[in-house]
Amino acid sequence: MTWIKTACPLDCYDTCGMLARVDDGKIVEVKGDPDHPITKGRLCVRGHNVVKRHSHPERILTPLKRTATGWEAISWEKAYYEIAERMKQAIDLHGPLSIMHSYDYGSSGLTKSLIDRFFYALDGFTETVGSLCWDAGLEAQTLDFGEARSHSPDDMAAHSKHVVLWGRNAGVTNQHLIPFLKEAKTRGATLTIVNPLPTPLDRMADYVIRPKPGADGALALGLCRQLIADGRYDQKFVQTHVQGFAAFQDLIEAYDLARVISACGISLRDFDVLANLYAEKPTTTLLGIGLQRYRNGGNTIRAIDALCAITGQIGVPGGGANYANREMARFVNWDYLSGKRTIQRRVMSRTTQAEEILRAQPSVDVLFVSRTNLLRQVPNTQKMRQAISGIGTVIVVDMFMTETAHIADYVLPTTSIFEEEDAMVTTMWNPYATYANPVVDPPEGVKPDWKIFYELADVMKLNVESVDPQTAIQTAIGLTEDEFRAWQINGYRKFPIAPVAYYDRSFLTNSRKVELMSGEGVSRVHFSVDEPQTEYPFRLLTIHPVYRQNSQTEGSRLEREIPLLFISEGATQREKLEQLEMVTVETPVGCIQAQVKSIPSASRDDVLWLEVGQRGINEITSSHKADLGDSSAQYDVWCKIIKHGQSTDEKNHVN
Ligand code: SF4
Repeated sequence: MTWIKTACPLDCYDTCGMLARVDDGKIVEVKGDPDHPITKGRLCVRGHNVVKRHSHPERILTPLKRTATGWEAISWEKAYYEIAERMKQAIDLHGPLSIMHSYDYGSSGLTKSLIDRFFYALDGFTETVGSLCWDAGLEAQTLDFGEARSHSPDDMAAHSKHVVLWGRNAGVTNQHLIPFLKEAKTRGATLTIVNPLPTPLDRMADYVIRPKPGADGALALGLCRQLIADGRYDQKFVQTHVQGFAAFQDLIEAYDLARVISACGISLRDFDVLANLYAEKPTTTLLGIGLQRYRNGGNTIRAIDALCAITGQIGVPGGGANYANREMARFVNWDYLSGKRTIQRRVMSRTTQAEEILRAQPSVDVLFVSRTNLLRQVPNTQKMRQAISGIGTVIVVDMFMTETAHIADYVLPTTSIFEEEDAMVTTMWNPYATYANPVVDPPEGVKPDWKIFYELADVMKLNVESVDPQTAIQTAIGLTEDEFRAWQINGYRKFPIAPVAYYDRSFLTNSRKVELMSGEGVSRVHFSVDEPQTEYPFRLLTIHPVYRQNSQTEGSRLEREIPLLFISEGATQREKLEQLEMVTVETPVGCIQAQVKSIPSASRDDVLWLEVGQRGINEITSSHKADLGDSSAQYDVWCKIIKHGQSTDEKNHVN
């Protein structure tokens, strides 16, 4: 029995290499690839769940069609023929824009982009753009630096004097950072965590600071003002490499110490700790994604970027404002993969797609859904359900009967990563891409996404260049035969990215400098810290759990029937709640039932949190957008707890 190199397909910072062992055509063991230079043989729980999903007895193994009497198993030929007929009718009636593809990043595989070749072979189509996740931060760093770039983890381990995890819950979402943090700490670096919620790494931190959610931008601007007033900033870096400093100084005048401390809900000692860290060098900041899931989210990232820039932490070993690693994207020819050409193309935001579908002219008549579970992931589920229900034909490509699949007309079964050949290139953190060699054959009746759409294109007589996955990956990255073969054998490939971002101070902005005030500048209005409304006293955050990637355990034993509502011990006592008591959580959008989970560790008393991806969570979130890019502001939700037995109104209840 041999070990086959494959890769975790989840959209995650780490991009782990995996090894799979096969006996008699079945996977008998999966473990982390010890050769991978960053992930070094360790998989997180979510990675192990990828294996469980592969062998789950409830996988769909044949195309399904909704009928008056329930789901009917049909042949691929019949599915293709009927879908093609419905597409032709829709195009005849309302034109090609009535065909829509809604997708997200349920898998990081490059071959997933090959299905775009089908849509680009039409005369036009509608597709989703933007992000439920991180676009505001990307746009912020594009405005500030020209591109979001990150230092290598080795650079942090070797050079940082101080490490600040600002909103990044690395113990859950970026676990392979931990050995590098330990290395830095052993060398003498300090670790500071800035996060409104308790995190697994709090116990190894030197300082833990808990600002109010959404107040991080105000905190960063207050620090900038104080450090400039004290003369503790890098005047040489500012003079040489920063544009807009004078206007920035005017802007931050309003962020005096007393106001900032009050607005952020932190102590003077917390403020001084951060000021002292940034006054020294090199301090590296690892920014989280949750930071920018507010209506002021883009400007929050800009404010922290500004703090890093004026204190000279940019372009130096051990420094950096590390949000993402977009340099990775430049090594992939995405247009080649997608077969992009100039045709009619209507776009809808992933955040507000429900509202946009409902008012679309021409209407959306045929909706394809792939790599996403819209009824779990898009804020305001009620609106999303209403939008999907009004579409004539809905086709879901998935491994399981998700909530979205349940309201579709056709469900087409797709392969697991172990049945596919693919390559994972994420642009979040480390500079390694992983290769997934095929491990086992797919079950009869199950096909990879690209094959489904190539075959549908054949039935529709569309002109699609149907390249195979190997050719597609090799060509998209421009590798020689030897380079490509080495990647398949090693399982990982390092892309040539400098370990120190902007080491040459050659920023990709128009001025070639850090631009503090480009675009609309760091807008003052965006830094007003929302106060709780009297009716809804708690901020509600919907965060990533350690054991699940979004909704990718739906239906398994890892999914609770009733979600847990996490709450600080102080708030538990104040609200007179009992551990595991059933309560109703109400927001202006709706209500769900949840069970109280009181957390004894120090936590803010004005914040509640739920784990994202569970049934019902997005029934109570709203589709606000952040201030930059095309991004969801799903943390801008306020709620109240209603004890059972108390009266509530007639709002929609789930569970
Ligand atoms: S989810 Fe991330 S950390 Fe976990 S196994 Fe996959 S790539 Fe690795």
